[in-house]
Amino acid sequence: MNVLDIIAKKRDGLALSRDEIEFFIQGLMSGDIHDYQVAAWLMAVYVRGMNIEETTHLTNAMTHSGRTLDVERVAPLAVDKHSTGGVGDKTTLVVAPLAVSAGLSVAKISGRGLGFTGGTLDKLESFPGFTSDLSASRFLENLSKYKIVVAGQTPDLVPADGKLYALRDVTATVGSYPLIASSIMSKKLAVGARAIVFDVKVGRGAFMKTEQEAVELARIMIDLAKGLGKSAVAVISDMNQPLGRAVGNSLEVKEALDTLRGNGPADFTSHCLTVAAQILLLAGQVKEENEARSSLEKLLLTGKALDRFRDLVRAQGGDTTPVDDPSLLPQAPITRRVASPRDGYVSQLDAMAVGLTALDLGAGRKNKGDPVDHAVGIVLHKKIGDSVGQGEDLYTIHAQSEESSDVAEARLLEAYAWEDHAVKAPPLVYQVVS
Ligand code: URA
Repeated sequence: MNVLDIIAKKRDGLALSRDEIEFFIQGLMSGDIHDYQVAAWLMAVYVRGMNIEETTHLTNAMTHSGRTLDVERVAPLAVDKHSTGGVGDKTTLVVAPLAVSAGLSVAKISGRGLGFTGGTLDKLESFPGFTSDLSASRFLENLSKYKIVVAGQTPDLVPADGKLYALRDVTATVGSYPLIASSIMSKKLAVGARAIVFDVKVGRGAFMKTEQEAVELARIMIDLAKGLGKSAVAVISDMNQPLGRAVGNSLEVKEALDTLRGNGPADFTSHCLTVAAQILLLAGQVKEENEARSSLEKLLLTGKALDRFRDLVRAQGGDTTPVDDPSLLPQAPITRRVASPRDGYVSQLDAMAVGLTALDLGAGRKNKGDPVDHAVGIVLHKKIGDSVGQGEDLYTIHAQSEESSDVAEARLLEAYAWEDHAVKAPPLVYQVVS
């Protein structure tokens, strides 16, 4: 078999066989296939797509590029959630400890920032010392002891996703159904949680731009999961505007901590309750969504979920002092509050533009392996549907320099639009697919 033929076959829109896909992933892992060839193949897949058989073969080949963990052995009630990626999407930071405080175990492999979207691991690394690089034995040990693990893929676990993810991030090949589905599902299969809730984002700041596309991706992932004996549902949720108010690593951690104390923004809190309620329903902990939401709300208000978050940070080597004093999280030297140039109702707040602005400030990566700046980002004071008076605070930029703040200020003003009449905020959740 020859890598050029495989790239050409996909470039010409033909379906790859299982052997060809396995050959490709083996070559990726051994280094026999070079980054530039992988990049060309990714672009061919992005443009031509893959059918469900190819996606299944790709998922399996990626899963078996490393070892797989039998989490059921140490945590029979292990659950998992995974977002397809968004802006201001810090849901895992709240939902994982919430699910654990409700009696479940969370065994999860998360990702780093991808394109203009943020990554859970980059956010968690705002805690000095926190590591997502866990060996298989430490993963299982932490899971058995603390019931919560949020790790990254490692040379041990789905290494093929690590390589593909980093290349997709810098070759404009992120937003493709087969690449997203196989990336997410290979991580789910390697870890082996029994119940999975997918949070499929749709809108300007998501890879899926229409509800129909989001449902299509959700179906692919649910079918792959069910085919392997797991239970799965997908929440199709809005990403036209950022989720919550904070965008940027430590700013999002602070917002997640506020939410774990019951003081988070209403939209983000409600979204977390929706996703966590679906987890409880899927795991058979409750029968009704309302019942789940009210017991989860109590777990936020009593600080039980926050305690589990502290466990997570401590268990993975992080300094937990910022959990109790978020002012100790990385802080940018410059904060600039920007006022609304007019009266009106916010009618648009382009999540993609906000995500790209955060990326430019340094919150994400432009090149493979770049470090991220944990301190920088944006806090949005007004979102779609809010009324605002001229001169009132619209957003605050957290930056390393006046120059980068100038660029961010101008870009963010363009992300907003106003109307003179009242505007309805978009729904948080469009549907639940099961
Ligand atoms: N999350 C992932 O893990 N992979 C993707 O491709 C997108 C979101």
